[in-house]
Amino acid sequence: MRLDLVEIFRCPRAHAPASLIAAVDAAVDGDVTRGVLGCPVCDVRYPIIAGAVVFDERLRAACLAAGPAPRATPDAALRTAALLDLTGPGGRVLLGGTAVAAADALAALVDVAIVALDPPGPTPAAPGGVAVYAGAAPLGPAVLRGAVLDGETAGAAPTVIAALRPGARLLAPVALAMPAGVRPLARDAEHWLAERTDDGAAAVPLRRAAPAVPAAPAASPRPAR
Ligand SMILES: [Zn+2]
Repeated sequence: MRLDLVEIFRCPRAHAPASLIAAVDAAVDGDVTRGVLGCPVCDVRYPIIAGAVVFDERLRAACLAAGPAPRATPDAALRTAALLDLTGPGGRVLLGGTAVAAADALAALVDVAIVALDPPGPTPAAPGGVAVYAGAAPLGPAVLRGAVLDGETAGAAPTVIAALRPGARLLAPVALAMPAGVRPLARDAEHWLAERTDDGAAAVPLRRAAPAVPAAPAASPRPAR
């Protein structure tokens, strides 16, 4: 994990948003390979193992036991860059689950830092970026330029949306109902593409959204019996 990425993380526990503090045990070429991210509010410590930040150890074990993501098609990085409208360098892009297969090519294509969420198979090296095992996006607001989720990581959508900049895009499987906080742009048989709305109020980071208040029943067009 690149040390300058520490600032994007927030403690996922139920308390006021808190940035995390890094303690580095080992680093290679500016990438932290071993250490800890600690929360100053609840005092929990999230280990950095093989460069990945581990918020959920059971999930890490399950990801490591899974087979690696299938190889990305040669045009996957170009397609991802185009769909996410990554027209210039800089910033961070979250790739969830099997979408991580396109990470290296995408980072080389547009010079973005990749946040690999719950990548299946061996922990990716993620040079300049970071792998995260969390089941959600334990991130601060407006730290992502774009995101891609697969079927396994679709449940992280509300927290990912909360971490997108206004106008940043999310590509997700059609099986996922479009959450609050984004407006649809395009859809095909497999994915929908949406952009984060300017109004962040709909996306609540790291907390379960309050149940929607049922709409008042519409007046019946037929006379009540
Ligand atoms: Zn905490």
